[in-house]
Amino acid sequence: MQLKIENLLTDLIKFKTIEKNKDELRKVIQYCYDYLKQNDLLRIEVFEVNQKWNLIAKFSKEVLVYFVAHLDVVDGLDEQFEPILKEGKIIGRGSLDMKGPSSVLIELFKNLNDRDYPVGLILTTDEEVGSQNGVKYIVENKNVHSKLVIIPDGGENFRIITKGKGAFHFRVKSKGKSAHGSTPWAGVNSIEKIIMFYQTLKEAIIFKENLDDSNHWYNTINIGKIEGGQKVNIVPDFAQADIDIRFTEKYTLNEIQNLVSYLAKKFDLDLEILSTGNPVIVDTDSVYFRKFLESYRRVIGDVVFDVEHGATDGRFFASLGIPVITLYPVGGGIHSEYEWVEIDSLYKMYELFYDYVKNL
Ligand SMILES: [Zn+2]
Repeated sequence: MQLKIENLLTDLIKFKTIEKNKDELRKVIQYCYDYLKQNDLLRIEVFEVNQKWNLIAKFSKEVLVYFVAHLDVVDGLDEQFEPILKEGKIIGRGSLDMKGPSSVLIELFKNLNDRDYPVGLILTTDEEVGSQNGVKYIVENKNVHSKLVIIPDGGENFRIITKGKGAFHFRVKSKGKSAHGSTPWAGVNSIEKIIMFYQTLKEAIIFKENLDDSNHWYNTINIGKIEGGQKVNIVPDFAQADIDIRFTEKYTLNEIQNLVSYLAKKFDLDLEILSTGNPVIVDTDSVYFRKFLESYRRVIGDVVFDVEHGATDGRFFASLGIPVITLYPVGGGIHSEYEWVEIDSLYKMYELFYDYVKNL
């Protein structure tokens, strides 16, 4: 059978599916629906949640394994939405993260047309902006309990992710009192309050962490955005900052959240939580995981495990106690100006998933 993964991927890249292009998010799901529709056995549901579009496709059988993919991408240069084929690679925004893996799954589900399979496919369009109207909504509102979830969105070069860090994203707002810059004693500097808060929080977050770990398996903190103040000679009366904490399984989301709220209060800042996720630890010993490893050994070879620093949609399933397999094909440059995927590895990934599903 002639597989159409390459064509699918180049088509998908051309949809400029960034958050603000609501219509493209709808169109890309419509495109996938039309493609999957070629398989009569699939029951396909398409639905919108706050202008984000989702698709769930499954057979009449109970679903043991869900495959999950997102079709939105982070913004890129205009030319990145015109895919380039070069030296066995497809270069373009989302080629690896994760329209390449999505193409593999869409082609796979189209081709599983000889009988009912105990698998399902979930496609969403808001992963890059926190998954509130995609996977989070689906986990909370649709019955997607299964034995295992596969999300090909992390772990480069077929490395299987067994641990993912938790994430705590938040904003702090600081009020001060303005005064002339020459008389700072007459005011309260709102930016300084944030700086002091950040320093204290950072020390607390990386307290006792082993920063020599070659896998970087320790807590991290990043201040990603800061705004405030008007002029060099005015004491600023307002400032705010967006901060990103990633933490290991030695901590819980609650502990991190309590620490941040405690310090925010101490430094007189308002706290707004942007998004959160618990660390993900995969039970590699579960039946369906072990079956996956058998397919992996047949198709890919020796199993290589790895850890993941970025959060994936796996966190929502992990919170239901469902083991999650995360792995990427060969590629690189996620979120950068040069994102690419190796075409052969997409076919390898197809073979791997095909073998797994056939043997379930
Ligand atoms: Zn992704």
